[in-house]
Amino acid sequence: MPLLGLGCWDMRGDEAQHAVETALQIGYRLIDTASMYGNEKEVGLALSQIGLPRAEVFITTKIHNSDQGYESTLKAYDVSCNLLNLDFIDLYMVHWPLKDTRTGTWKALEKLYLDGRVRAIGVCNYLSYFLEELDPIREIMPMVNQCEFSPFLYDLTLLQACQSRGIVLQAWSPLLRGLRFNDQKLISMATQYSKTPAQILIRWAIDHNISTIPKSSSQHRLKENFDVFDFSISEEDLVTIDKFNENYRMSGEDPMKYK
Ligand code: NDP
Repeated sequence: MPLLGLGCWDMRGDEAQHAVETALQIGYRLIDTASMYGNEKEVGLALSQIGLPRAEVFITTKIHNSDQGYESTLKAYDVSCNLLNLDFIDLYMVHWPLKDTRTGTWKALEKLYLDGRVRAIGVCNYLSYFLEELDPIREIMPMVNQCEFSPFLYDLTLLQACQSRGIVLQAWSPLLRGLRFNDQKLISMATQYSKTPAQILIRWAIDHNISTIPKSSSQHRLKENFDVFDFSISEEDLVTIDKFNENYRMSGEDPMKYK
């Protein structure tokens, strides 16, 4: 799985298809969507339009909350494959750890994986509490855990919980939807590296070995967000950026509400 990909939340119809096509032309190879985003069909159309070999693209989608549970997850997987026009999905994830259904949902993902129907399975919004809960139940370790994560929400407990289990942490809303681009500490780091605040946030994740999936539907910003492979952040500056932490949950969505 590439560490850097395109997030597809809040894009619909032609906008979604066009953004995915543009991203693939720029060089993005990881595309992150979800049943809940209502654009799996457009992601599939973009893939067909660009026509890259299947093995060169990595497609993630997620189970809609309303489809959680063992049997309904198995059905939802087929629906997503059909919408995406794919024989298999590269990474299929539990979108939110819903209290009553998360265990059955995970068991269905394990079945899909053991049956060879999906390349990888993962979870989203599984703070360390949920990973610990899963430990005695799971047959397969989640391969990826996608969570809200940024220098302003540097949850070291979560990072270590993932790393100690060999799970790749993937940051959602890695740009905090632009809300902290005017932070003076971030601006001065960007100035020091002659990069933009967005590029510093993306490179910070990559240099921590955290996968990151910034969303953009603008060609200019898609390019900017992908133009992060000609520099890296020094160890010392990574530590400085880690200290931006404010436990700032930009989305306001605390997964612990499902505890
Ligand atoms: P991001 O942090 O990626 O920010 C996206 C916003 O920032 C958009 O408004 C975009 O506008 C703008 N933007 C993008 N690049 C730049 C740039 N270089 N300069 C200035 N502005 C920029 O937020 P998302 O919430 O979209 O998170 C990314 C992805 O994470 C989602 O798309 C989705 O795939 C996933 N996600 C997963 C969740 C989960 O529960 N598993 C929850 C939320 C998100 P524009 O398009 O105009 O460029």
